[in-house]
Order: sequence, then C-alpha cells, then structure tokens
Amino acid sequence: MVGERWPLEPLQPERPSATATRWRFADGAGELQFVSSVTEPFCATCDRLRLTADGQLRTCLFAETETDLRGPLRAGASDAELDAIVRAAVLAKGPGHGMADPEWTYTGRPMSLIGG
Ligand code: SF4
Repeated sequence: MVGERWPLEPLQPERPSATATRWRFADGAGELQFVSSVTEPFCATCDRLRLTADGQLRTCLFAETETDLRGPLRAGASDAELDAIVRAAVLAKGPGHGMADPEWTYTGRPMSLIGG
C-alpha cells in the first residue's frame, strides 16, 4: 500500500538472520523496514539470545522458560560451567514462537517485563 503512493525498491537484508525486510523510497527520501515476526515468521534463522537484567537467559523472546545464570555466577561457576549451561539452553531452543497454533497461549514473562 505504501509503495502505491511512494514507489519502493527492495534492499538486501543486513544479515541472513535479520528480522526486518528493508525497502528504500525510490525518490531517495529514506528507508522503511517491516518486522513481520507473526505473519512471516523468521524463527528458522533466528540467532538471538537475551540475558535479562536479573540474570536469566532466554533463547526466544516468547520463551516460557528461562535459564538461570545469576545463581551459578553467584555460586562461583567457572567459565566452562557457564559455557555448558548456555550451550545446553541453546541446544534446547524450540523451533519458534508457535503463535500460528490456534491453541497457543502465553504464560511466560512478557517482553514488557524483560526490557523490550
Ligand atoms: S519468536 Fe523467538 S525464535 Fe522466533 S525470531 Fe523471535 S526470538 Fe527468534
């Protein structure tokens, strides 16, 4: 719809796992980006992790489980032990947010409580 009024040209994604599709206004006035994470999921190429301010590692913004790093850190875990915890969390990462499933409900900590 935007392109009908202001012609757009597609731009290459910033990297293969980029979240946004990028467009440039043909008149050079600027760029436009869309993050269509629900209607066009890009979970298959997601390489994101989030460490919350309270030391919880999340492998998906919509994860319902978190991996505690604060406890092991405060208990003096070694780098190798922390590495193993992070790797185990990443290996257990699910295939995506699952919102396309009509039965999908969310019971985890919402993004508003983890900083975005
Ligand atoms: S919903 Fe989760 S798996 Fe999908 S792109 Fe976002 S953070 Fe990655």
